[in-house]
Amino acid sequence: MSMPPPESIRVTYTTTTDDMSVFHHYFDEALAKVRAEAGATYPIYINGEAVTVDGPLITDTTPIDTSFVLGHFQGATPVEIDRAVAAARAARRGWRRTSWQDRVAIMRKAANIIRKRKFEIAAVMGYEVGKNRFEAIGDAEESADLIDYYCDQMDNSNGFIQEMDRITPVETNTDVLRPYGVFACIAPFNFPAALGFGMSSAALMAGNTMVFKPATDTPLTGLKIYEVYRDAGVPGGVFNFVTGRGSQIGDALALHKHVDGVVFTGSKPVGMRIFHGLSQDFVRPCLMELGGKNPAIIMPSANLDAAAEGVWKSAWGLQNQKCSACSRVYLHRDIAEAFLEKLLTRTENIVIGDPTEEGVYLGPVINTRAVKTYEGAVARARAEGEILIGGKVLTEGALGKGNYVAPTIAKAPLDSTLFTEEFFVPFLAVGIVDSLDQALAEANKVEFGLTAGIFSKDQNEIEEFFDEIEAGVTYVNKNTGATTGAWPGAQPFCGWKGSGGSGKGGCGPYYVAQFMREQCRTVIEE
Ligand code: NAP
Repeated sequence: MSMPPPESIRVTYTTTTDDMSVFHHYFDEALAKVRAEAGATYPIYINGEAVTVDGPLITDTTPIDTSFVLGHFQGATPVEIDRAVAAARAARRGWRRTSWQDRVAIMRKAANIIRKRKFEIAAVMGYEVGKNRFEAIGDAEESADLIDYYCDQMDNSNGFIQEMDRITPVETNTDVLRPYGVFACIAPFNFPAALGFGMSSAALMAGNTMVFKPATDTPLTGLKIYEVYRDAGVPGGVFNFVTGRGSQIGDALALHKHVDGVVFTGSKPVGMRIFHGLSQDFVRPCLMELGGKNPAIIMPSANLDAAAEGVWKSAWGLQNQKCSACSRVYLHRDIAEAFLEKLLTRTENIVIGDPTEEGVYLGPVINTRAVKTYEGAVARARAEGEILIGGKVLTEGALGKGNYVAPTIAKAPLDSTLFTEEFFVPFLAVGIVDSLDQALAEANKVEFGLTAGIFSKDQNEIEEFFDEIEAGVTYVNKNTGATTGAWPGAQPFCGWKGSGGSGKGGCGPYYVAQFMREQCRTVIEE
């Protein structure tokens, strides 16, 4: 029997399919390829040329087994950042004068290349981030869909060029959205492909050039992004790829005087640092998607099985390292015990291990800093509340080779900081409430406003939730993920308050236009 091509196997974060044998076959093949290529040393790319840096390399290991080296990467310095920004600046004119139709065609080609390479890109993320097979392929699949969705925005709006009204009969007025110039694009570790491709593709198709920096934990996925664009025909100076630590080159890149805008996804403290530093002489665009502390509210009328399933998926998917992860639950007192029993049973049965293996759900956390954060949250929970399950670092057998921790659920008093701080580790805080009003007040009291979910069958409660909740991505009765699972074109991903910057989200219909500025063109006919 002939095998269907890899690009025809489509898996999203919420796919449920019976026969996954072809999927697993391709995944196994891709993992073997990543293992065979492991350990190489990679350059950065400026103006399409490979560049190496004098100085210590960055060792990229997998959190599954920290002795397994995926590759060695350059630690760029401000000198290479200057060169990369200069290359992007020099490429501005040629790229913005490339017709928008041609830019879109190149981006669509990139999306198709991703689909062909998605198992390899997913396998890299399996190792580099510690994603399970479905999370990893979802990230790769989303990358291609994001690009196509953003290309549709260019097509549907005629490249953001439109004829305007005339005030006199002799004039022609045209409104054009034009690129800013050079963007710095800085990506986080947790969705290194989808966010790397999502942010950069929108900026590029809008006509900007770029210096792209992946997170230090995920440079190999970053390199895959560079390779896709190169093979799709993006000119070298248009997309420059640098690796290096944010603490050392972050300011040099984001606050460079020749950077015309920044697109950033990551933590709130880093995002706010960039925001405050960027616009010293005049206002520059700073598109930011930041952290979250996403609540689920469970009301007495809820289907408790659906609620437990939805919270379970959103709390433990990718080890709670999604910006949309459910990290706190507000339970109505009347159903608290019944709900917790279901959630605890599901959590007890979670399969923890090497997430690249078939059937494993929960993998390691990204690095030893995350393990420390986890230990801190657990210690606080022991002091302030009660640990219902988990609460320990896992070191038995093969788990001892990596950054493994037990998924933890802790009951805590509502005024505990366990409900307000983003930990980004598998830790779920549970609080008891007596009413929807109280749940909403608790949900809204944090500085974040990314995603939120409710389980209720009461229409009035659902309307109240939509009206009052301070979050950009909201879900009702979503058993496939109480607070997670957004997809391009379906769930625009807009962070409110400390979770975002522009009031318009990735995955949404207004995203691409944010990478452009308006120019109105009046011509008088003689
Ligand atoms: P992070 O520590 O803020 O890092 C994000 C990126 O910023 C990395 O490339 C990092 O480089 C770089 N960076 C660090 N310091 C910098 C500086 N001073 N100037 C410029 N860049 C700097 O975040 P993370 O741990 O990778 O990702 C987790 C965070 O991202 C969470 O807060 C999560 O909620 C958020 N997130 C939000 C969304 C969303 O859509 N709202 C999506 C995903 C993730 P190094 O790796 O070299 O330090």
